[in-house]
Amino acid sequence: MSKVVVKICEEYNLEIIKTKLLESFDLLGGINNIIKPNQSVFLKVNCLGAFDETKAITTNPVFLKAIIQIVKEITPNIIVGDNPATKEMIHALKKNGMYKVIEEENITLFNPKDFIQIENSSYKIYNSFEVSKSMVESDVLINIPKLKTHALAYMTVAEKNLFGLIYGLSKAAWHVKAADPLQFGEMINDLYGALLEARKGKPILNICDGIIGLEGEGPSTGGTPINSKLILTSLDAVSLDTVAVNSVGLDYDKMFITKIAGKRNYGKNDLKDITILGDDYKKLNLEFIAPKDSMSIWGLKLIRHKFVRNLFLEHPVINTELCIKCGECAKICPPKAMTINSKEFPKVQTNQCIRCWCCAEVCPQNAIIKSKRPLLGKIFLKNRDK
Ligand code: SF4
Ligand code: SF4
Repeated sequence: MSKVVVKICEEYNLEIIKTKLLESFDLLGGINNIIKPNQSVFLKVNCLGAFDETKAITTNPVFLKAIIQIVKEITPNIIVGDNPATKEMIHALKKNGMYKVIEEENITLFNPKDFIQIENSSYKIYNSFEVSKSMVESDVLINIPKLKTHALAYMTVAEKNLFGLIYGLSKAAWHVKAADPLQFGEMINDLYGALLEARKGKPILNICDGIIGLEGEGPSTGGTPINSKLILTSLDAVSLDTVAVNSVGLDYDKMFITKIAGKRNYGKNDLKDITILGDDYKKLNLEFIAPKDSMSIWGLKLIRHKFVRNLFLEHPVINTELCIKCGECAKICPPKAMTINSKEFPKVQTNQCIRCWCCAEVCPQNAIIKSKRPLLGKIFLKNRDK
């Protein structure tokens, strides 16, 4: 059995969060059994981009401060960082308030250009990944995801947050290589397996910031913040993700990344094999709104080929009332299906679009929405993929 600790926390209050976290760590066997004096600890936050903290897209700065203050009691050897999708890390951290915390607490920022190659000896599609060295080599990796829905992955919590091991725009290249969602799920698991192998049993402590989560068209400006009041903690990312989807009332059958992880024995993905400790999340009665037109594994198998995706799936549409022509969407678009000319709104070549939704992730204005699902998609996916 693996353990996931649930704590209900009403607000971003430093002392309350610290208390809840210490209670959570105690239920996992105590923080002193996870981190030893003077060990190196990497805090892998969610810093998707330069978004204001009120949007609940990135790790809340007070939440980060609480974790730093607890870890500092044990070791001064702490590094914080992430690989944002587009803007450089410091700019993004300043915008979402984490940089101020890092300065106040006098913590080292990581060097995003210091890479290491890691390999998965039992990979399914990809065996090798270039990732940020200090994240992999730290004695303890603390993974700090947000609790969010995700247009491509359905939800992004602990395991998907580790896609941030890969350097900024290099992530876009992986979207092209693993263009269909199930391939993408296998790739995320190939990466996770490589990380587990490289760390040789060194702990990964996952602490999910779900005090304010994101529902609907997450994981970025398309999502809607929701006061979900949850802190989830586990040494098993797969278990944490399994409990997360259940706790917010969403459909586990659509968590294809977690399902693949369970099949590969990277963690427990069945509630029967997970001991849930702490508070009872059921009393919150959370019912997150799912991303529009999300699909089950059956539907994802059907859209494996690009021409089927083009026929069946919705595509990005620019809301010209909101768009400020910043060009971020065109810059990130992995297959260059989105283009922009000066002073014009971006244009999408739908037959080139792989439906990765990276453009919507980086849009600061929530100006990229999904078109209606084409008729063929409505017919073939109807009643199977609500
Ligand atoms: S759609 Fe969004 S990201 Fe693209 S140019 Fe407009 S505002 Fe920028
Ligand atoms: S247009 Fe958007 S959804 Fe389509 S491939 Fe480009 S980034 Fe992905």
